Amino acid sequence: MSAFSGFYKKTIPERLEILKTERGLTDEEVKVLTDSGSLSLETANHMIENVIGVEHLPLGVAPGFLINGKEYVVPMCIEEPSVIAAAANGAKLATKSGGFTAEADEPIMTGQVQILGVGEDALEKFEANREEISNAAKELCLGMEQYGGGFRSCEAHVLDTKRGKMLIAIFYVDVRDAMGANTINTLLEKISPLLEEKIGGKTRLRILTNLAMRRKARAKCTWKKEILGEETIEAILDAYELAANDIYRCCTHNKGIMNGVDAVALATGNDWRAVEASVHAFAAMDGYSPLNKFYKNDVGDLVGEIELPLTVGTVGGAINTNPIAKISLKILGVKSAQELSMVMASVGLAENFAALRALGTEGIQKGHMKLHAANLAVTAGAKGDEIELVSKKLAEGGKYSVEAARNILKELRGE
Ligand code: NAD
Repeated sequence: MSAFSGFYKKTIPERLEILKTERGLTDEEVKVLTDSGSLSLETANHMIENVIGVEHLPLGVAPGFLINGKEYVVPMCIEEPSVIAAAANGAKLATKSGGFTAEADEPIMTGQVQILGVGEDALEKFEANREEISNAAKELCLGMEQYGGGFRSCEAHVLDTKRGKMLIAIFYVDVRDAMGANTINTLLEKISPLLEEKIGGKTRLRILTNLAMRRKARAKCTWKKEILGEETIEAILDAYELAANDIYRCCTHNKGIMNGVDAVALATGNDWRAVEASVHAFAAMDGYSPLNKFYKNDVGDLVGEIELPLTVGTVGGAINTNPIAKISLKILGVKSAQELSMVMASVGLAENFAALRALGTEGIQKGHMKLHAANLAVTAGAKGDEIELVSKKLAEGGKYSVEAARNILKELRGE
């Protein structure tokens, strides 16, 4: 039996003991995790401008993710009560069916330089000088080569806009384990004078695109019909079909996927706005569509597949400064940004699978409100042991509101 089975039933100290034994967390790291003020004001002050304090969000783990035969315990940082439970539930049922298979593209980021005021022959000039431009770009990305990355290629296209013709020069860089925004932006700014010299015109924007089409991750799982039951499979397929045909449902469907993906991005110190932007632009490329698909195979099992661009790193950005991000990556045990993106794709798929399963059968409110009950109890003023007692009574009564929680609390206190 896995050391993580029944993890949700354990106390926080028991869970930390398991992480010490199973993931090698040190006493020091446990102290950082349990000190809810562990991001010091001094560190925070170096991270952003005008610091006035630190915001806290709960960090949890979803154990039991079997991906490409390796077991992962996935750290997730989120305020929404049912997200970790849903991920763990989706993962558990996936493991019973053999787990997830996943793959990721090479970590190639894309940058754009906008060149204004160019002549009719701009593209020709770019092509004629492409070798020299490539050599310069390679030189500017030499630092990445020590990690196995570096400049890969460049191309250009012309846009006719209401502000005139512009040439867009595009650069592809393998950024290995970094998210890569700074690496790309530095290259673009440094290569711009050469572009102006060779092509003419004036460079304006020099910035990465978050739509990282060459940096996608994919995950797949086949949930066996003997485990799920045929009725549940039909319910999931019905639910999926609505998302595939109706943008109002599709928006929420993809939000459900991102509940899981963002929570891992946040736990690991990644730029979740970058992840959100790229994923939704990708979903909208041919008309806004689900990021995943569900279908039945020839023997009637449910197959789920997901593909999405994931611009995440295991080094650089805030990862180096945020101590929690480093601990999260240690718990996760990933060796590269590609591996992290495979885990995130699997988490997104598991999250959506669990949501559709609940939505298509008993509805999500039963489970969600049960988990939300503790929030209501705290809002009503419950402290310590009262929180669990009030949540329990709320669940028994089946009526979830702050008002109901207040009444239960009054009764408990004999007021
Ligand atoms: P970074 O500038 O910290 O660069 C990562 C550095 O890590 C590299 O330069 C390299 O020297 C080093 N490194 C060590 N080991 C490495 C390895 N194995 N693989 C790759 N590099 C290794 O960070 P970044 O990833 O270039 O930029 C990410 C940051 O940029 C994030 O904080 C993000 O929020 C921010 N940003 C985002 C946008 C956007 O998304 N549009 C725009 C600007 C900045």
